[in-house]
Amino acid sequence: MSDPVLPPAAVGVLGGGQLGRYAVLAATVMGYRTVVLDPDPGAPAGKVAGEHLIARYDDRDALDRMADRCAVVTTEFENPPAASLELLAEHVRVAPSARAVAVAQDRIAEKAFLTGHGLPVGPYDVLTEATSPGPLGDGPAIVKTARLGYDGKGQRHGADRDEALAAWGELGRVDCVVEALLDLRTELSVIVARTADGRTTTWPVAENTHVDGILDLTVVPARIDAQLAEQAVEVAIAVAEALDYVGVLAVELFVVAGPGGVDTLFVNELAPRPHNSGHWTLDASTTSQFEQQIRAICGTAPGPTTMTAPAVAMVNLLGDLWFGADGAKREPRWATAIEAPAAKLHLYGKAEPRAGRKMGHLTVTAATTEDAARQAVELRNGL
Ligand code: ADP
Ligand code: MG
Repeated sequence: MSDPVLPPAAVGVLGGGQLGRYAVLAATVMGYRTVVLDPDPGAPAGKVAGEHLIARYDDRDALDRMADRCAVVTTEFENPPAASLELLAEHVRVAPSARAVAVAQDRIAEKAFLTGHGLPVGPYDVLTEATSPGPLGDGPAIVKTARLGYDGKGQRHGADRDEALAAWGELGRVDCVVEALLDLRTELSVIVARTADGRTTTWPVAENTHVDGILDLTVVPARIDAQLAEQAVEVAIAVAEALDYVGVLAVELFVVAGPGGVDTLFVNELAPRPHNSGHWTLDASTTSQFEQQIRAICGTAPGPTTMTAPAVAMVNLLGDLWFGADGAKREPRWATAIEAPAAKLHLYGKAEPRAGRKMGHLTVTAATTEDAARQAVELRNGL
């Protein structure tokens, strides 16, 4: 096992979004230097990093510089080119591995991997020019591009097989999966951190509500029975171990009614990075998912993941909030959120609010999940 990476070594992050920003901040607090690679000069993480390399993710010079400067490199999004990760890995420690990222960035590979390891996924089929689609079932379906989808993008719903196939046309007939549209009881996620020597930590299971395919509300602990929560954690750890994963991994899960009405879990998708549904850990956990990411990729001891409040809720602040009913742009009333004693306001420093764009989030701690959720939603409504 290689030696731990210790401050003041430099940590590199591919991608400069809000997830990278928090990773950089966590590393900075611990005394690491930081380098971010992102082509966007306005990238949120670039503004807080020691160095921002403004270049494409396949830019040879930028990758060389990153390998030269950093002791370890990680990613904050699932789509860094595999070739870039492999190139970096020739010179510097890279976590998670190119292989793990490759599995998580392609829904076809992801589902094959999960199924191959006996992990539960919902009914699905592969849809490519090369494979004639098998029986899709009769019911409603969702077609999802195998690659590059996020926040519900790259997805089309179809009421039946024909509509699903027509929707595939709308998606340009790129490689897709088609999934049966499930009647979800609830959605969960488990964030798991794993070190190279196999130490894993998880946080209490999160319960997630999506609106238009975008995460809207997360409450923790999830309102599910202890046995289901235990199962969810077991599945997430099994995924991390099967991938020989190093870093922070998010496992999104569906809960559906199984035989006899018993709650049944399916893995929806994997994110090879910290996750929006883990943002609450910044305000209500002894160790945040971002600090744990730095600890895990650096090969140091994981921190405790105990909650510091009985319950927490997180609501996303999308760009829509900047536009009133009349469509006129305005700055939301931030003072309301800042003044609420149980709330924490987070804004990512993005210059341009757009509909559906994640601009920030609000966290509220309370005695119960219901109370936390109610307060968080009310506060957001008042912005
Ligand atoms: P993304 O990469 O955009 O997060 P997901 O596959 O997680 O894509 O889909 C986004 C959301 O859409 C899910 O969290 C869920 O609410 C809904 N969804 C996706 N697939 C299904 C499905 N097969 N059945 C029911 N709802 C689904
Ligand atoms: Mg998702």
